[in-house]
Amino acid sequence: MGFLRHERNECEDCHEKFGSYDELVRHSRDNHKRHIVKCSSCGKQFLHEKDRLHHVREENEKKVDSRRHKF
Ligand SMILES: [Zn+2]
Ligand SMILES: [Zn+2]
Repeated sequence: MGFLRHERNECEDCHEKFGSYDELVRHSRDNHKRHIVKCSSCGKQFLHEKDRLHHVREENEKKVDSRRHKF
């Protein structure tokens, strides 16, 4: 109680809630004909370009980290 909960998986159009972001993306694409953007490296789908950019940035940071660990 009192904690801010992340409601990122709520549909912006009909406010239905989903267990995962992937489900929300699929729902928005199929039910509301939303334009979906895809990550070019792993194919993950996003509702907004800013979400994709955030993911790509995290992915790049992970890559840099694993490179650092390996070499
Ligand atoms: Zn919806
Ligand atoms: Zn990706």
